[in-house]
Amino acid sequence: MTTAFSTVRTVADLRAHVGGWRAAGQSVALVPTMGALHPGHISLVKRGLQLADRVCVTLFVNPKQFGPTEDYSVYPRSEAADAALLAEAGAGLLYAPGVDVMYPEGFSTAITVGGVSEGLCGAFRPAMFTGVATVVTKLLLQAQPDVAIFGEKDFQQLQVIRRLVRDLDIPVEIAGAPTLREADGLAMSSRNAYLTPDERGAAPHLHRVIAEVAQAVAGGRAASEATDWARGELLACGFAKVDYIEVRDADTLAPVEHPAEPARVLAAAWLGKARLIDNVPLLPR
Ligand code: AMP
Repeated sequence: MTTAFSTVRTVADLRAHVGGWRAAGQSVALVPTMGALHPGHISLVKRGLQLADRVCVTLFVNPKQFGPTEDYSVYPRSEAADAALLAEAGAGLLYAPGVDVMYPEGFSTAITVGGVSEGLCGAFRPAMFTGVATVVTKLLLQAQPDVAIFGEKDFQQLQVIRRLVRDLDIPVEIAGAPTLREADGLAMSSRNAYLTPDERGAAPHLHRVIAEVAQAVAGGRAASEATDWARGELLACGFAKVDYIEVRDADTLAPVEHPAEPARVLAAAWLGKARLIDNVPLLPR
């Protein structure tokens, strides 16, 4: 059976559609995205269909989460192809608002999450998590889903959203979903489209190196020693710059040298025009 699929662009139409589902007794999952969809995004839709009766995907390239010199204007956009993939995957609704709908004239509010937003990507992209927290708060209030699904690919973002929802008592369950990878280990990402063939060849080293750090630290090596090695290894593999590679507690994101609780190895590094991020779990012995 194929599910009916629609695209809406206004809050009123979104609410009418979701309201219809609710009136029919159906639960709703929300999957926020910036589009240029790949199988990683589709895996979140599939997870949504396991957790709720209906899935609404949002597509909004959020200007507030890009810095002034970042890639907002060139971020890949492919709404028609995205809609076809979503209909095929069983999503019921695509909400694709314009910037004027999300941030109308006079918009003056920002949501800033402390703690888990600081450090890692927060240190290198200072506007990003306030932009993310602001747009996600709006999307949750606009759609009022039962559950919202976010990828572990953006692990710090997932923790920021968990904190935001707890702190503001937003009545939604936040579900994390595992990172989908290419066969060679590269985490799928819309920004992988920026890679030249040579850079694409080097890109899987990011996952290899953080996996090796995870294994070494799980085996007793100090995190700072393993990450020092990893930085050099990434540069030797062709990465131009390593923004960070760190071992952090999986819940608090506090730095840990010898983890005793579940931890995460997180990294961001540049290959040409692409800033790649990735992370893997680290379970201490
Ligand atoms: P984006 O469109 O990049 O903002 O991502 C939208 C959602 O998809 C976020 O929750 C991401 O964490 C998630 N996502 C992105 N890449 C992947 C991937 N390779 N596997 C699973 N989820 C992903």
